Amino acid sequence: MLYIGSHVSFDKQDQLLKSTKEAISYGANTFMFYTGAPQNTLRYPINDEKTLEALMLMKKEGVAFDKVGAHAPYIINLANPDNLEFGVRFLTEELERCQALGIKFIVLHPGSHVGRGIEEGIETIIRGLNSVFLNYHGDVKILLETMAGKGTEIGRTFEELKEIMDGVERKENLGICMDTCHMSDAGYDLTDFDSVLKEFDSILGIDKIGCIHINDSKNERGAHKDRHENLGYGTLGFDLLLKIIYHPLLEEIPKILETPYINREIAPYKKEIEMIRNQTYEDGWRESIHS
Ligand code: FE
Ligand code: FE
Ligand code: ZN
Repeated sequence: MLYIGSHVSFDKQDQLLKSTKEAISYGANTFMFYTGAPQNTLRYPINDEKTLEALMLMKKEGVAFDKVGAHAPYIINLANPDNLEFGVRFLTEELERCQALGIKFIVLHPGSHVGRGIEEGIETIIRGLNSVFLNYHGDVKILLETMAGKGTEIGRTFEELKEIMDGVERKENLGICMDTCHMSDAGYDLTDFDSVLKEFDSILGIDKIGCIHINDSKNERGAHKDRHENLGYGTLGFDLLLKIIYHPLLEEIPKILETPYINREIAPYKKEIEMIRNQTYEDGWRESIHS
């Protein structure tokens, strides 16, 4: 079965119910959200009534609640020792919020070493994740995202992610979120996706993949820029992304679009999901939406 959705919003008032309604409006059967603004630490108590309403709506509309995930805010940087205490505390709270919402996983950017070097960065991330799991004993998983390698980002290669995984004691709570734009930016040649997947499998294991972010990329392979593009408007292209989405070994994995809004105001997801479901690209779809 195809599990396709996008990034959606979550608000103070309606919380997960708002996210669910937005996802349904796009024709999605999964989605991803931030538990609050990604750039600040303001979070509100989870409203169990809204959560229950959301879960009932998901059931009614065929949204797979066990494929729905959250994304940790960018302000968490476990690779920076000066910020580690904050990051550990906030990530632990995020896991508890996910648990209260019935959400099974949260995607995390491993971190940026801010000039201290990859090795020290990786050690700091491992220390951070082990500290999180000292206080959190539930079953929500942290999915480390494959990164573009912008600035001093860690997680650009499968080997770096493997090093982190190896150092974390609670391995059953860890997985990987692939991001197509990031992998291409990092230098992986997705036109030969089977080889990339094989390499991933030999280093990390296919069974570790918990989610895939589906994004076209504004930049050439290896650019380390991390600029997402709408499907068919970037250097990856619709057919290549479709191949990844429908890859037989990745069938059960939720696929999440994080492509940019059109003119910064119109969500592209309804159309992108429709084209994915139809497995047919419509030339000029973006222009026809905003005109
Ligand atoms: Fe991300
Ligand atoms: Fe992503
Ligand atoms: Zn990105």
